[in-house]
Amino acid sequence: MAHRYINESAVYLLPQPLLGYMLPYKNRLRDRAVAADQRRAWDPQEAARHFIDLDRWGDSVFHCMPINWSDAILYYNEDSLREHGVLPWHTVTVYRRLVSAFAKGDAESVCRHAADLGHYLADAHVPLHLCSNYNGQFTGQHGIHALLESRIPEYFLNQMLVPFKRPQWIPDARLAIWDIIRESSAPLVRVFDCERSCRVTVPIPWQVSPIKQGSRLVRKESKEFVRCYDQCLGGLMGQRLYASIHNLASWWWSAWIEAGQPNGTLWKDKKTFGQKSNGFSIPVFEMGGIQVDSVISLRSLNQEFKECDE
Ligand SMILES: [Zn+2]
Repeated sequence: MAHRYINESAVYLLPQPLLGYMLPYKNRLRDRAVAADQRRAWDPQEAARHFIDLDRWGDSVFHCMPINWSDAILYYNEDSLREHGVLPWHTVTVYRRLVSAFAKGDAESVCRHAADLGHYLADAHVPLHLCSNYNGQFTGQHGIHALLESRIPEYFLNQMLVPFKRPQWIPDARLAIWDIIRESSAPLVRVFDCERSCRVTVPIPWQVSPIKQGSRLVRKESKEFVRCYDQCLGGLMGQRLYASIHNLASWWWSAWIEAGQPNGTLWKDKKTFGQKSNGFSIPVFEMGGIQVDSVISLRSLNQEFKECDE
């Protein structure tokens, strides 16, 4: 997924005064967007934080999987939970770290956890991070992961315009992450079917072309093939990208509110705080009271969880 692009774009959706506090850090938020992927090299726990194999837990996963990690390890074996991915629980952990970083006024921690939150949330928006056949290895569609989350944005990112949408208050991150995962995983069948149908529609010699990567030429899916796939998916990845950016702004904003709306002038990183943006206009809207009717739709999980218990 276009992690750097998502982290940077989300800053511009923030309302004042948070926009003013975060804008000086936008380069750090962008540059650290892939730190979570880099940690895989030395942290054996890291890989499991980027996915969840929903299919390993059966159809009732959205109703029955506990939203609290402490409950999940009571009901399921911790090793299997880790083996099949801990993305939803870890994303919430990082959100909680961000709330406490805001509350402490620690700008360095705010940047670190805000950037990581952007990474994990973006992963939760990609259908192939949510199933065990994540790279088409079980269906003879090897390479579909990069095709979906990298090739499509690479080819079409410069044509995408991020619509300005006001962030929404997230009343409970533990529920909101499962809403995102449910929405992201809904088109999984289409993701595999469309790749298969484009392999038939686009003549084989036109499916790959030499693409410049740094100073090298590599063989990758051609623009014709990527276009076929994107059109078959109905622009799905563009929609997931916009949703990632909007949700990230909503989660950052909610973390800041939950931390008590700290004043950015109290943040400890005096060196970078307070730099004014220049050269462009900033969208500003009233903070006002939180619009309770604009919350992201949530399942009433406690009730459903009881049903699973019986
Ligand atoms: Zn990742």
